[in-house]
Amino acid sequence: MSSKKHAETGKRIDSFGYAALKEGGTLEPFRFKRRQLGPKDILIDIEYCGICHSDIHEVKGEWGRSRYPIVPGHEIVGRVSKVGSAVKKFSVGEKAGVGCMVGSCGKCEACKAGEEYDCAKGPVWTYGSDEKSIGGRTYGGYSNNIVVDEGFVLKISNKVDMASTAPLLCAGTTTYSPLKYWKAGPGQKVGVVGLGGLGHVAVKLASAMGADVTVFTTSKNKVKDALRLGAKRAIVVSDKKAMATAIRSFDLIVDTASAVHDVDLFLSLLRRNGKMALVGLPSKPLSVAPFSLVSGHHVLAGSGLGGIRDTQEMLDFCAKKGISADIELIPVQKVNEAYGRVVKGDVKYRFVIDMSTL
Ligand code: NAP
Ligand code: ZN
Ligand code: ZN
Repeated sequence: MSSKKHAETGKRIDSFGYAALKEGGTLEPFRFKRRQLGPKDILIDIEYCGICHSDIHEVKGEWGRSRYPIVPGHEIVGRVSKVGSAVKKFSVGEKAGVGCMVGSCGKCEACKAGEEYDCAKGPVWTYGSDEKSIGGRTYGGYSNNIVVDEGFVLKISNKVDMASTAPLLCAGTTTYSPLKYWKAGPGQKVGVVGLGGLGHVAVKLASAMGADVTVFTTSKNKVKDALRLGAKRAIVVSDKKAMATAIRSFDLIVDTASAVHDVDLFLSLLRRNGKMALVGLPSKPLSVAPFSLVSGHHVLAGSGLGGIRDTQEMLDFCAKKGISADIELIPVQKVNEAYGRVVKGDVKYRFVIDMSTL
């Protein structure tokens, strides 16, 4: 495929990228159409897109809701190449970012509170939702361009590196949200379960907020990195002695594990009134013993993404503090190999696709 700029035919914009055509299928080159710009729409030429574990869950049909073909990708950064007649927030040539959603009803309680990801009508996801204006689906960021309503486009500082900022559009906002909501900061002991794409950004954010951070990992070879990333300590979960030293000591635990694991084990590490926020989305149910919540008056909460306002706040915070993801940049042709490596935990810590290789 050529990496030439988009072409416009009739009322649609020609796009190309990589798609999974069926459950369990590998990603392959795919041509499709996007809607022509409405008055408030922005056309972004995509430069980089991160690979989130959610893309892999979706492509594999692990959440039981996938609709094929899927062009995954919701950690998107690029440059504005065209704007609709009523666009106020962006001009051509500006950097721009798109995360997990590209629309919502704007009227429900969640939307009014700026938490569009929780829209009562269901947000329009960046990929896999209905594309109401032209029929078919929304397609994500493993592609050359995207058309998005300006209300769902984020500003990216001119100072930051584009490739390593891309993962913040999902991994950043998803971990910033529970840290903000549960008030991580100085004097707070914060645990991060799983040092993957989300987990490593959570460590950077929580330490930048001033919290005392501990990483819980199943991978011995990540301990050194955890400390380099800003954690005060890292505990290998299978080390029973080390785990015993952590009992009843945490104010907040952010659990990013992507597979089924022992939630009670981590609840036992919370101090009285401590909170645990689940952000990982394993495909099978997790079990919780009621005693793990009742003893210690613990809260087990969930947290999903962040609204547009909080996502912008997170991006500005990261630009100010010099926070971005640790990435391995790959050409798009290596995407299937990268998926296999994410599942094996063999990435430090986020793959980002260089879209100029399309
Ligand atoms: P990732 O890069 O693959 O990281 C997941 C980490 O989980 C791994 O690095 C590993 O860390 C740990 N892990 C894997 N298998 C485990 C097991 N069997 N037991 C315990 N820990 C295990 O994935 P990610 O992109 O960070 O995403 C993490 C999860 O969050 C995924 O399920 C994803 O779908 C979900 N997610 C949710 C939201 C939301 O809105 N809530 C948003 C984005 C992603 P160690 O090697 O350190 O143990
Ligand atoms: Zn994601
Ligand atoms: Zn809504």
